Amino acid sequence: MNRVRILVFNPVLNVLDYRVPEGMTTQFGALVVAPLGPRQVLGIVWEPDRLEGEAVADSRLRPILEVLPVPPVPAPLRRLIEWTADYYCAPLNSVARMMLGPMAALRGGGTATEYRLTGVKPARLTPQRAAAMDALQGEQASIRELAELASVSDGVLRGMVSAGLLEAVTVDLDRPYPRANPKHAAPDLSAEQAAAADIFVAAVRDGGFQPFLLDGVTGSGKTECYFEAVAEALNTGKQVLVLLPEIALTENFLRRFEARFGAAPVLWHSGLKQSERRRAWRAIVAGQAQVVVGARSALFLPYARLGLVVVDEAHEVSFKQDDGVRYNARDVAVIRARFEGIPVILASATPALESLQLAESGVYKKIDLPNRFGGAQLPDIQIVDLRTEAPERGRWLSPRLVKELKLRLERGEQSLLFLNRRGYAPLTLCRHCGYRFQCPNCTAWLVEHRLSRRLACHHCGHEVPVPDACPECHAPDCLVACGPGVERIADEVAEIMPEARVAIVTSDTLNTPEKIGEFVAAAEEKLIDVIVGTQLVTKGYHFPELTLVGVVDADLGLEGGDLRAAERTYQQVAQVAGRAGRGEKPGEVLIQTRHPQAAVIVALAAGDRDAFYAAEAESRRDAGAPPFGRWAAIIVSSEDEAEARDAARAIGGTRPNLPDVMILGPAPAPLSLLRGRYRYRLLINARRSAQLQDIIRQWLGGLKFPQGVRVGVDIDPYSFV
Ligand code: ADP
Ligand code: ZN
Repeated sequence: MNRVRILVFNPVLNVLDYRVPEGMTTQFGALVVAPLGPRQVLGIVWEPDRLEGEAVADSRLRPILEVLPVPPVPAPLRRLIEWTADYYCAPLNSVARMMLGPMAALRGGGTATEYRLTGVKPARLTPQRAAAMDALQGEQASIRELAELASVSDGVLRGMVSAGLLEAVTVDLDRPYPRANPKHAAPDLSAEQAAAADIFVAAVRDGGFQPFLLDGVTGSGKTECYFEAVAEALNTGKQVLVLLPEIALTENFLRRFEARFGAAPVLWHSGLKQSERRRAWRAIVAGQAQVVVGARSALFLPYARLGLVVVDEAHEVSFKQDDGVRYNARDVAVIRARFEGIPVILASATPALESLQLAESGVYKKIDLPNRFGGAQLPDIQIVDLRTEAPERGRWLSPRLVKELKLRLERGEQSLLFLNRRGYAPLTLCRHCGYRFQCPNCTAWLVEHRLSRRLACHHCGHEVPVPDACPECHAPDCLVACGPGVERIADEVAEIMPEARVAIVTSDTLNTPEKIGEFVAAAEEKLIDVIVGTQLVTKGYHFPELTLVGVVDADLGLEGGDLRAAERTYQQVAQVAGRAGRGEKPGEVLIQTRHPQAAVIVALAAGDRDAFYAAEAESRRDAGAPPFGRWAAIIVSSEDEAEARDAARAIGGTRPNLPDVMILGPAPAPLSLLRGRYRYRLLINARRSAQLQDIIRQWLGGLKFPQGVRVGVDIDPYSFV
C-alpha cells in the first residue's frame, strides 16, 4: 500500500493522508491535486514523520488525482517552511503558500493572447479611445489588464480591436529570459572594494553557509562589490536572489544591473502582471531565471539552484511583514541560506543593532568599506536648533536652511529636503468649532492631499474630497491645515524661490516604474533644483550634483517612542545625509531639531556611529530589549469591541507565570481601531533563555474564541501600534 501525507492548502484541514493510485509515482515535495469532499485541493507531499496528522485506516484513504508537472519543492525549502512556521508561530500551510506563484504556473507552458496598439492613428477618436491610446503607449497585456491601466471598460478595448487600433499577439508563456553576461562591463574596483569582492567570490565558488554583513558607508560601492559575487554565480550556473526593501528601488537597481551584466534581472513583486508572474515563477523553478530581484515575497520561491542571497539595505524595517505570516525577511533570508548551504550578504550603511551584535559575536563575518568610492568625502553635518533659529510663522524651513537652499540654486546645484510625511498636512481642523477630520475605520487623522484634493487615511485607504464647509458646524471656508507634509514644504520652497524647479517624491507621486525612471532622468539631467521627499528618497539614488540635504524635522521619528525609534532616526538621517556630496563637490547636511542634545542627534552631528550604537546597546540591555532580550506581541481584534476586549481578557486571565517572562497588558492598542477592527495587545518580554514560542503556543493552544475574533502572534515585533 502506497500512502502519502500531504500538506493541504486549506486553512482548516491542513494535513491529510491519501493513497497513490497504481501507475502514479510521487516523491516528497511533489505538488499534487487531491479530492476533499466533492472538491479538489492542492497540496505538497511531505515527510509523514515531520507532519502531525490523524492516522486514517488504509481502507478509508482516497486516491490522489494528479501530480502536477512541476519540479518537487526541494528539501531545503521544505525545512525553511517548517522553520518559519515554528519560529513565527504561523500555520504551516500559510507559510508554504508563499512559495506558490499564480495557479496557472503549475500547468505546462503554452501561450497566451495579449494586445498592443497597432500604431494606426485615425483622424477622429472618441475621448475614451483617445485617452486609452495615450495610456496604453508601449504596453502589452491582456484586455483585462489593459482596461485597468487605461481606466476604461473591456468593451471599449474590444471595440478598439475591431477598429484595428489594438492587435492581438500570441506570446509563449515560457519564453526564456535574456542571459546576463558576467563579463559585460566589469568595473575597476578600488583595492578596498576588490578585497571585499574577493571574499564574496570565494564564498560563492566554495559554497557552504556563510553569512556576511557588508558594512559600508553610503557611496562606498557596496553594490559593485556584491555584483562580483553575482558574476561568480553566473559563471557557475547558480541562481541569485537579491532582496530590496521597496519596489521603488527595483527600477534603479534594474538599470545598474543592466549596465553591469547586459541584460535585465528577473523581477518579482506585487506590481507584476499575471503573465509576468507566471513566466517568472516557471523560470525560477526551472533554474532559467539567473538573478531574481524582488521584495520580500521573493524569498520563499522554489529556486532550482540557489547559490547566493543578497539583502540590500538590510536595516530597513519594511523587510518585516506585519500581516498574514508576520516574519522578517532579513532574518529568514539567513536561515534560507543555512538550509541551502550557501553564502548570504546583508548590505547596509547603517546596520541594525541586531546585525552588528551578530557580527560582533562572530556569527556573521563583517566586511567593511569605510570610504566613499573615488575619494568623495562624507558630507559635513550641522544642527539647526529650531528653538533659537525658528522659521517664520507658518513656515517650516529655518533661515539658515533657506539661505543654503538659495545658495545652491545660484550655483546650479541640487538640494534635497527630507520629511517623512506624505501629503500636505497630517491634520485638518475647523477653526470655528474645532472639528477634526478622523478616519471612520481607524484611530487616525485624515491626511490632506492637496495635489489630489482629498483627505485620506494612510492606514485603510479611506478617502473623501476636501469639503467646502465644516461637516459639523457647516461654516464655510473654515478648515485649517495643521503641520507639514512634503506637499506643504514644496509650496514653501516655491514661495521662497519661485524660479526653482521642485519635485515631490513620495509613494503617491512615484508609483510606477515609468514615473520613477522619469524622475531619475530629470534629476540626472539637472531639470530639478529641489527634491522634496519622504523616506523613498533616502536610499539607492546617486545624484552627483546634489550638494545639500535638509532634514526638515529630525524629531518626527522620535515621537511615539517605540524601542527602535532612536535607531530608525539615526538610520534615516544617516541614509538621507548619504545622498549629499556623492560626486566631486562636497556635500552639506542641515538637521532641524528641537532636541539638539538628544544622543542620536549628537552622534549624527559628530559623525560618531560607534558612540551611537554603544549608547543604544546600553539602553537596550537595560530594557531587556533585542538583541539582549526578546519581545513578542499578541494582537487580538474583532469588528465587535466587546468581543475583542473579552477575548483579550480571556488570554490575559490565563497568562503563564514564569520567572524569565514578563507579560504586559492586555490593553487597547495605540491604533485601537484599524480597518474597522477593534484591537487589543499583550506584550511579552522574555529573557533569551525562555522558550518563547513554546510558551505562547501552549498558552493560546488551550483557548477557544468566537468566530469573529482574530488572534495574531508577532515574534520579534517591529510595530508596537
Ligand atoms: P553604496 O551602495 O555603497 O552607497 P554604490 O554601489 O551605489 O554605493 O556606489 C556609489 C557610486 O559609485 C555608484 O554610482 C557606483 O556606480 C560608483 N562606483 C562605486 N564603485 C565603483 C567602481 N569601482 N568603479 C566605478 N564606479 C564605481
Ligand atoms: Zn482608516
